[in-house]
Amino acid sequence: MPTVLLKPGEADRVVAGHPWIYEGGILRLTQQVEDGAAVQIKDHRQRFLGTGVFNSQSKIRVRVLSSEREAFDQAFFENRIRQALTVRERHMPGVRCRRIVNSEADRLSGLIVDQYHDVLVAQFASLGLDRRKNEIIAALQSVLKPRAILERSDAGARKFEGLSEAAGLLSGENVESVEATVGKITYAVDLRAGHKTGFYLDQQLNHQAVAAFAKDAAVLDCFSFLGGFALHAARAGARQVLGLDQSEPAVEAAKQNAARNGLKAVCSFESANVFDWLKAKTTVGKNERLLPQFDLIILDPPSFTRNRASVGDALRGYKEIHIRALKLLKPAGVLATFCCSHHVDSGLFEDVVLSAAFDTRKVLRRIAAYTQPPDHPIIPSIPETEYLKGFAYEMAP
Ligand code: SAH
Repeated sequence: MPTVLLKPGEADRVVAGHPWIYEGGILRLTQQVEDGAAVQIKDHRQRFLGTGVFNSQSKIRVRVLSSEREAFDQAFFENRIRQALTVRERHMPGVRCRRIVNSEADRLSGLIVDQYHDVLVAQFASLGLDRRKNEIIAALQSVLKPRAILERSDAGARKFEGLSEAAGLLSGENVESVEATVGKITYAVDLRAGHKTGFYLDQQLNHQAVAAFAKDAAVLDCFSFLGGFALHAARAGARQVLGLDQSEPAVEAAKQNAARNGLKAVCSFESANVFDWLKAKTTVGKNERLLPQFDLIILDPPSFTRNRASVGDALRGYKEIHIRALKLLKPAGVLATFCCSHHVDSGLFEDVVLSAAFDTRKVLRRIAAYTQPPDHPIIPSIPETEYLKGFAYEMAP
């Protein structure tokens, strides 16, 4: 097997579990290596560290897949998928809409597999695993026996690996959408065109946790997508719920989901840009007073940053919506707010919330902290695996 020797000081990260080896960390290759080929990784003193896959087209030259010498065949992938499944069964027993494989966090860098009952949706974001698609499909079939496996490989990530966009049916029946029960709500999930693989599975436990504050409340769900927070709030006894999303198809789908779950009477959804909507609601004339209307406001925006350079702009965006949301929150109301950018950590995120509170002269009491569910595992030695954080605050008198 060709060998990749690392520069001095580069081995520790690999030993700690981080699977990415950049070009700059490589001392030399013992022979020429084809893209997609398996390699063994050694430190500069020739001590064995693991095996992985090579790609000269990516800044991540090697993705480590194992700390042992093993072949990346169907049996290898079956083993990894079984290990990933064990984690889910242990920490989220009985849940049937979930992320089965989450890339680096499950030692399969570049592979995501989401399950919606008996349908799987896969994303291949590394050349090494894209080349082994057939083995991976066979392994998924053998372990999970799905009715269908679809591909939704995101173009953005694949570009960095020298791969083009890929989507379609990988095996089984040609499924377009599914009825998925996630938490206490059943949604129609568009597997072909919906965001991510069709649903934000990473928020499923938070949908239910935030609903604990919804009894008898007037609720505003900003960035509502298919209605996850809104519909769980309604299910938990909210008096009235308004969801806002700029995507018309998402708003239409959320309305249908409300009807599907018998929650139409309390729920409404509007297509709007949240920034504009909040601005309009919080702008008052000279002698007018703003009347706060909501007992529970949820902010779950998309990631405003893709990289470190744009963090400043993102923080301004986060601050603006917090200022306006706080103005619309009734005394003793609850603000539940989320940030899904890896580049904004929970400390920085709370700083933004507090600076919005300061500007609006409110004092907040933190009553809950939220994170990713166990099917989106966090490996602290791989910082990139941690991205979702959230807090709930109530207004202190
Ligand atoms: N809360 C949802 C997930 C939200 S994802 C859930 O739990 O499932 C972010 C959503 O914000 C997407 O649906 C996207 O369409 C919407 N969005 C992005 N920018 C927006 C904006 N400026 N105004 C309103 N919606 C926006």
